[in-house]
Amino acid sequence: MIRKTWIHILLGSIVLSWAGCSREHVAQGEDHGHVHTGEEGENAHEHETDGTEKITPGPNGGRIITSVTPNIEFLVRDDRSVQLTFVDEHAKPIEATDAVVSLVGGDRSDPTELTFAVEENTLVSSGVLPEGEVVGVILTIQAGPEAAAVIERFNVDFATCSGCQLVEYACICNH
Ligand SMILES: [Zn+2]
Repeated sequence: MIRKTWIHILLGSIVLSWAGCSREHVAQGEDHGHVHTGEEGENAHEHETDGTEKITPGPNGGRIITSVTPNIEFLVRDDRSVQLTFVDEHAKPIEATDAVVSLVGGDRSDPTELTFAVEENTLVSSGVLPEGEVVGVILTIQAGPEAAAVIERFNVDFATCSGCQLVEYACICNH
């Protein structure tokens, strides 16, 4: 019961953040005088305050999740299963750790829950993402069985970004 409510709150906030997504990034002082080249400007990340972090593409074209150590690349395979690859600080694949990951996604009235198991050197989901061009997901990641859970919420948007040509969920240009 409690868990279900929690999921609803999280899914609700995904919808809200999606709806509130805006292309306007207001420059944060200091940086004035900087001219956008169109190539590498606009790299301000919504959740960053220091502005130092650059968005690195994943080794397989997926989205790098930086809230956990080691970082994890999130990639949806052709069959819509999810592949998680552990990467070092240079986004190079490393061996899978004993991290425990679960995913809840899709329609909040009938969410899909996926677990992950080690396959080769990656974690692969027990099932596939639900249908849809945009699927909201919540990843719960524990670096180890005893570690505190880190929660990542984002939309898996399968459209191709016109800026960096990656799928939108892995976009590195904030287009
Ligand atoms: Zn992009």
